[in-house]
Amino acid sequence: MIYFVGAGPGAPDLITLRGKELITRADQIIYAGSLVNGELLAWAKPACMAYNSASMTLEEVIERFKAGERKKQMTVRLHTGDPALYGAIREQMDRLDELGFSYELVPGVSSFSAAAAALKAEYTLPGISQTLIITRVSGRTGVPEHEDLRLLASHGASLAIFLSAALIGEVREKLLEGGYPPDTPAAIVYKASWPEERILRGTIDTLPRLQEESGITKTALILVGGFLGTGYERSRLYDPGFSHEYRDARK
Ligand code: SAH
Repeated sequence: MIYFVGAGPGAPDLITLRGKELITRADQIIYAGSLVNGELLAWAKPACMAYNSASMTLEEVIERFKAGERKKQMTVRLHTGDPALYGAIREQMDRLDELGFSYELVPGVSSFSAAAAALKAEYTLPGISQTLIITRVSGRTGVPEHEDLRLLASHGASLAIFLSAALIGEVREKLLEGGYPPDTPAAIVYKASWPEERILRGTIDTLPRLQEESGITKTALILVGGFLGTGYERSRLYDPGFSHEYRDARK
């Protein structure tokens, strides 16, 4: 059996209970060494083999899956954050389908959640934005033209931009062209939930300067939107004048 497990954003205790339990039972673990916290591997059985996928191709990862299945072993494939975001898991699952191997997915705490926690922020503030857009700018993997950051920016929604810290000048330009005011609050969160976590706050306009001064080029999220500012409306859900299924309006 093969499990794709979300390792969480970095802090070992931000993996799910299910994910941890699977690590303790695994005969082999294939982990994304560039971002998965190595401390998670300490929970594995002494006999468990660990392979860092950073130096492997898709074909080599599939060979490891095959070797495990031949020996009737349990394999954990550890991906950073939540595997469903930028995890390159689909290509692995399609190969496993072809081979007739069973697998399951275990979700994880994504870095966009850990970054909000680090910032003590809420992405969906009433009167500000009720939408979070998760995206990136084109790097080695292209972004479809109709999802260009300039077009997404036109919505003025809260933004969590992955995989783009090294391209921050381009991020700033596209956000401004798309219509965000230059003084829109923005932040760079580096290694959210790791001991070396760093939070840099500024505006869209100052993003390149923040990045330059910090030297942060990877393992960072760029967060943008009014949710990082001071204004919002209070919620209807907890408004004394509002009745719902579980509470009557207070006089
Ligand atoms: N599946 C992962 C994302 C993998 S893509 C998730 O759900 O978080 C890798 C990118 O994720 C990095 O370039 C960075 O933008 C972001 N990232 C991953 N871990 C992070 C962390 N602890 N803090 C900030 N950004 C992180």
